[in-house]
Amino acid sequence: MNNDTDIIIKNEHGVSEFHLNKLMIQRAKILLIDDEPLNTDLLAFSLEREYLVKAVNSGEQALSLLKRFIPDLILLDIRMPNMDGFEVLSRLKSNQQTADIPVIFVTGEDSTDVELRGFELGAVDYVRKPFKIPLVLARISIHIDLKRKNDVLKNLACADGLTGISNRRKFDESLEILYQAALQNKSPLGLVMLDIDFFKQYNDYYGHSPGDDCLKKVASMLADVAKRATDIVARVGGEEFALILPNVTGSQLKKITNEIHQAMRQLAISHANSVVSNYVTVSIGAISLLPKSAGGIETLFERVDDLLYQAKAAGRATTVISE
Ligand code: GH3
Ligand code: MG
Ligand code: MG
Repeated sequence: MNNDTDIIIKNEHGVSEFHLNKLMIQRAKILLIDDEPLNTDLLAFSLEREYLVKAVNSGEQALSLLKRFIPDLILLDIRMPNMDGFEVLSRLKSNQQTADIPVIFVTGEDSTDVELRGFELGAVDYVRKPFKIPLVLARISIHIDLKRKNDVLKNLACADGLTGISNRRKFDESLEILYQAALQNKSPLGLVMLDIDFFKQYNDYYGHSPGDDCLKKVASMLADVAKRATDIVARVGGEEFALILPNVTGSQLKKITNEIHQAMRQLAISHANSVVSNYVTVSIGAISLLPKSAGGIETLFERVDDLLYQAKAAGRATTVISE
């Protein structure tokens, strides 16, 4: 689970007292793109006290850096040799990973056309050269603030209300992005679907509220198992969960699904009405694949759902894997 956005401080009774959002206390990251090192130096000097600043001196360098560094805000010079700022801006906007980064463009001329074009391409604001530093700082501060509020809202919209892990919407979005990334990088992608066995009977016997507690325990266990920053742990149905595990091969997937069954045994949640165990168990369908075509994603969810169905049919509390 992407667990690093929240900080919970517990008091001596172990009760959460503060629920701070780490997004709010981490230094915001700013990327400066300007072909003139004097400009990036001047801006970096003014910004470094408050922000984490990186600077590059060409559009090409920026696009390459953005593959591994996602800033909260970009300051982008329009006039640059080779790839100009407009070109950089439209590339940023057409890439899902960078499309939501707010861009302030930097222009040396007083031209309505240039400024309009920047806005049309999706910039949020502009600053003029020569820089009036207090004005630049004020504009950056406003846009960083907006970006952070947006991030908080986005996080809320992506979370499952009961368990706090990703919801179905976030899962669908992530699967699309991570599938395309795996296709591009020719890297394997692991997908796990998991369903609690005889959960209706659990609810009927113990009640809905203990049922909710059981769902929370399973969710938090899954978040512990799939803990890499790129892993997605989602609740995709009432008592159905899914994991997206980039770069996970078939044999690693086997290990992970075994770990899940093992963790369920450790949780040892009593289930008097289960046919297969005295404790709550799960059935798992899992697949590790090397994406071959962009369209392959259409049937992926059904394929793994079918494997889960086979695990149910095979007697539950087990995994069916396809490599
Ligand atoms: P199987 O072993 O085949 O998976 O059977 P099952 O009983 O687990 O599956 P079924 O689909 O018949 O029932 C799922 C149950 O999950 C029914 C519903 O009451 C319960 N459920 C769904 N969402 C929630 C929830 O948010 N909280 C609680 N407590 N129960 C839920
Ligand atoms: Mg079930
Ligand atoms: Mg179900």
